[in-house]
Amino acid sequence: MNYNGRCAICGVHDGALHPEYQRQAKLQTSHRGAPKPDGAPGSKDDTMDVRAINLWALCQWCHAAYDRSHNKRQRSEGHRRRRIDAGELPLPLHGESDEE
Ligand SMILES: [Zn+2]
Repeated sequence: MNYNGRCAICGVHDGALHPEYQRQAKLQTSHRGAPKPDGAPGSKDDTMDVRAINLWALCQWCHAAYDRSHNKRQRSEGHRRRRIDAGELPLPLHGESDEE
């Protein structure tokens, strides 16, 4: 990832005064949601995808706007599903009880 210290969307330099917000820009690493090598669509919520092509540097405002442009419900559902797939969350168990 090399954006020469500039936001990949608006081009503001890291630490520079943002012309629109009049505040100091702070670049953050963001996930682009680049397509997978096999052509499958990527997701910017797939934080496990750290391929260089999937990462870019955005200022805090562009980062927030970019992430907001995604359906929030889909995001939390997908996030939960991925965490289950990754073994970070237990699968919901049915029929579990204290019966002897
Ligand atoms: Zn920006």
